[in-house]
Amino acid sequence: MIRTMPLMGTVVSITVDAPEPAISRAFDWFREVEAVCSRFDPASELRQLPVGTATAASPILFESLSFALQLARETDGAFDPTIGSRMAARGYNRDYRTGAASEVPGSDEASFRDVVLDAGERTILITRPLTLDLGAVAKGLAVDAAARELQPFQNFCIDAGGDMYCGGVNPQGRPWRVGVRHPRDRDRLADRFEVRDCAVCTSGDYERGAHILDPRGNGAPQVASATVIGPNAMLADALATAAFVLGPARGIALLERMDVQGLLITPALEQFRTRQSAHA
Ligand code: ADP
Ligand code: MG
Repeated sequence: MIRTMPLMGTVVSITVDAPEPAISRAFDWFREVEAVCSRFDPASELRQLPVGTATAASPILFESLSFALQLARETDGAFDPTIGSRMAARGYNRDYRTGAASEVPGSDEASFRDVVLDAGERTILITRPLTLDLGAVAKGLAVDAAARELQPFQNFCIDAGGDMYCGGVNPQGRPWRVGVRHPRDRDRLADRFEVRDCAVCTSGDYERGAHILDPRGNGAPQVASATVIGPNAMLADALATAAFVLGPARGIALLERMDVQGLLITPALEQFRTRQSAHA
């Protein structure tokens, strides 16, 4: 059975044979993660963090930010969860639910180095005005939380508009088949993967325009779509965004270092793959 629901600015669909309350709990995670991590909602926990005071954080915010900061260090700032004010300056400042634009703090000098986590106290300290943006990890995190709700039912697939997790096998008893869209022709697939118990996440320039920024400001993007297959959706989601920013050569090197599989397609439709690539 397939259930779909508009959530987090996309359409989330869940395929599973499970009782209604479990499916509802899975969907609820998208609202929960959004309430904590939204950059657009002044009332979100993320927007409420003060400057200059170490503040206790919820597990969702602490874990997602901690992971995003690790990836920022790993990519030397190509991936940077403090990109919020730059996103807003480029017009990505409206809450998709209300259309309301909001003024957000920050400057181009702010970077991930201005955010300090204390793993023991589980606090977050922001050392200068900036706007956090967990847009590259939050959807993946919600998919993983929903997947944990559905784990008892073994076979399920969660699709959150480009970010998926497939558990077990499909209704035909075969591995789930996940298509990678051709970045320039919405009726074609560029590739197809067979997966079980893993996430497949794609960052493309075709759905919502150029909404991935290079904080180091290096000219035109060299990637049209980045697809990552990994053990969980938060990792795959964020690595797809990071590989998009890094471009084909450094992007593939990152994916291999992180031990995930990936396919990067350039605007000229050249394909780059990690050495270990699953195929349908
Ligand atoms: P989608 O939201 O369509 O799944 P992505 O997963 O590729 O797209 O994430 C894009 C989001 O990532 C942007 O909307 C923004 O919130 C965030 N982002 C953009 N550029 C960067 C970057 N360089 N580092 C970290 N996050 C970024
Ligand atoms: Mg993503």
